[in-house]
Amino acid sequence: MQTHNLGYPRIGSKRELKKACEQYWSGKIKLHELLEIGKKLCIQNWNIQKQAGIDLVPCNDFSYYDQVLDMTLTVGAIPKRYNQIAVKSNNEQDLYFAMARGYQKNGLDITAMEMTKWFDTNYHYIVPEFYKDQEFQLFSNKILNEFEGAKQTGINAKPVIIGLVSYLLLGKEKEEGFNKLDLAKNLLPVYIEILKKLEQQGAEYIQFDEPFLALDLSDKAKETFRFVYKEIRAKFPKLKFIIATYFDGLKDNLSLATSLQADVLHIDLVRNPEQLEEVLATIPNNLSLSLGVVDGRNIWKNNFEKSLKLIEKAAETLGSERIFIASSCSLLHSPCDLDVETQLNSEIKNWLAFAKQKVEEVVALKELASGTTDETFLNIYTENKNAATSRNNSSLIHNNSVKQRVNAINEKDTRRKNSFNIRKNEQHKALKLPLFPTTTIGSFPQTKEVRSWRAKFKKGELTTVEYDNLLKEETKRTIKWQEDIGIDVLVHGEFERNDMVEYFGEQLEGITFTKYGWVQSYGSRCVKPPIIFGDVSRPKPMTVYWSQYAQSITQKLVKGMLTGPVTILQWSFVRDDQPRSVTCNQIALAIRDEVADLEKAGIKIIQIDEPAIREGLPLRKADWQNYLQWAVRAFRISSSGVNDEIQIHTHMCYSEFNDVIHNIADMDADVITIECSRSQMELLDAFAEFKYPNEIGPGVYDIHSPRVPSKEEMVHLLEKAQAVIPANQLWVNPDCGLKTRHWEETEKALKAMVEASKQVANSLTKKELVNQ
Ligand code: GLN
Ligand code: ZN
Repeated sequence: MQTHNLGYPRIGSKRELKKACEQYWSGKIKLHELLEIGKKLCIQNWNIQKQAGIDLVPCNDFSYYDQVLDMTLTVGAIPKRYNQIAVKSNNEQDLYFAMARGYQKNGLDITAMEMTKWFDTNYHYIVPEFYKDQEFQLFSNKILNEFEGAKQTGINAKPVIIGLVSYLLLGKEKEEGFNKLDLAKNLLPVYIEILKKLEQQGAEYIQFDEPFLALDLSDKAKETFRFVYKEIRAKFPKLKFIIATYFDGLKDNLSLATSLQADVLHIDLVRNPEQLEEVLATIPNNLSLSLGVVDGRNIWKNNFEKSLKLIEKAAETLGSERIFIASSCSLLHSPCDLDVETQLNSEIKNWLAFAKQKVEEVVALKELASGTTDETFLNIYTENKNAATSRNNSSLIHNNSVKQRVNAINEKDTRRKNSFNIRKNEQHKALKLPLFPTTTIGSFPQTKEVRSWRAKFKKGELTTVEYDNLLKEETKRTIKWQEDIGIDVLVHGEFERNDMVEYFGEQLEGITFTKYGWVQSYGSRCVKPPIIFGDVSRPKPMTVYWSQYAQSITQKLVKGMLTGPVTILQWSFVRDDQPRSVTCNQIALAIRDEVADLEKAGIKIIQIDEPAIREGLPLRKADWQNYLQWAVRAFRISSSGVNDEIQIHTHMCYSEFNDVIHNIADMDADVITIECSRSQMELLDAFAEFKYPNEIGPGVYDIHSPRVPSKEEMVHLLEKAQAVIPANQLWVNPDCGLKTRHWEETEKALKAMVEASKQVANSLTKKELVNQ
């Protein structure tokens, strides 16, 4: 039996890499200083794993920005627009960062490459750009250098390389008339060159990450898999290949995966433990099996008893020499080190494991599965069992009244009192809004001052009353300003919130926070997801104070602002001892109570943001409907407890609704605001075709850029919208919250937006008069 790890977090337990990169970008440190910090982190990570007892320590899992971009540079898939940079600054690292972040220097202005989510994680990778007949060449020696670096540290590391087929599937065709998989033939020689050099350097094992083997595959993709791995095996009879799959089970791709002539096949037994039986039944004799039993995506201590059962079963069938024990996927998605958390509740802390601890778990599992008599490991096992028992029975986790309430949810709780057609009339009477009503998505600029108040308040340099008064001033100013420029539905501005999930997480019972539990989201950006450890409940109202205050200082309508249950779930570490749907329903009930309290406080319009509902879609299409069914239901539980005249809004900030449009309609929000401006309203076609019955606010300008849109542009977009959606169903708003923008551009943009809405409404009224 051997142990290995699929990848280690590279940011450092105190986010050293983030800080170093940002200092380099702003010119505060030199390139060699950045590279030294990078190297130090690599060595530190290798040593942690080696000392823990990992047999195959990974290398090339480190990256200054993203591992997919590393591969793009390695194989020289550099889009032409960066040629000039290569000329102007013959420095590989700058070219690399330019591809990641764009380049505005030396008289050049070059856009960055696109970024998108890494499967169903919150990690974002840089999307390779492919062209017809593209040629590749070995451009960067990063893989070779990292292997050499590990060797100098005394480690014969296992290079982690994105498999050729997955690399192509992760990319995007930038011109018509070819399929990216056709490029396999051109790319293969570069992979072979790399492998040759690694073999010469003394590499024994190579890990190819092929996560697409756990997804739905086209016939062409399957064929490419067969072709590529046959060629590679023919060229390298001695190198040992590990094919790593993760995030789902192999399912219908099992026979394909076992036919690729690898030496080791890695499967994710956290996401899909059920696959083990079938894998064991069909695995060829010359293939070893790597069991991904330690969860790389969540922060819970491994349940040794459960894992050992899986390992023992596999060892019985295959013999222990054919077994590898591993993390389920790269630990990139885990925070670094639990030891640095000194303020966590100690009972909860005892249930957790971060990357450093997970590596130790992998080793302990091997020892225990091999029948060790070593006291240290036997004690670890006892402690592990005790922690599992403590977690099972803890009063911190279990709240019977919450459980009973979730069990008692009935059909009626998931529906508004009447259908939208009836509600619409009630709402029009109650709200008296004009045609093309204007609103915003919730947040207004979080200026340096606002953030400094929060920092001072947290440090105790401002009292609650002082902090409150500052926020009230800012809220008041924002309300008055919205009144002045003539916005119809106002927002309070969300100045009291640090983050749309954290703000609610901090106030809900059953959720806790770490101090350093950072996980890389993209480049130098890290997030610190809340930990949902127990039954979730709401001890007291969370937002009523601010909504009520804002409503009290204006005659106009102020919209209440909440984060929806699916988004809170999706952006947190979620407990693994009950289905996600149950946890989601608990959060939904807490939000439902908040909605009811807002109604009681006189708030007539309430927005429940669900930007994450689509990204929660399972990787396999066969699982979509089950997820959508409970996710949409949870939203409805959160939003259905109010009277007909209360208008429920929701907001989602992504495109691509076509395949889930009927589920979005099923959410039955009275109004949905969505991102649209970048796609020039094309997105609305899905709504038009489907005849989306409720009201829609297609974003008329892109808030992700400081650019101020003209009134004419927005009029044009509104006319486009009106061509496909009836005018009385349309709202006018930016495409997302304004918290990252400055006041200056926000003021100009929103003024122009209000004028655009008036102009379109006027011309429509005139047309109607002519038609009469
Ligand atoms: N209400 C939130 C805001 O305006 C919504 C943010 C989001 O959609 N991501 O900031
Ligand atoms: Zn948004």
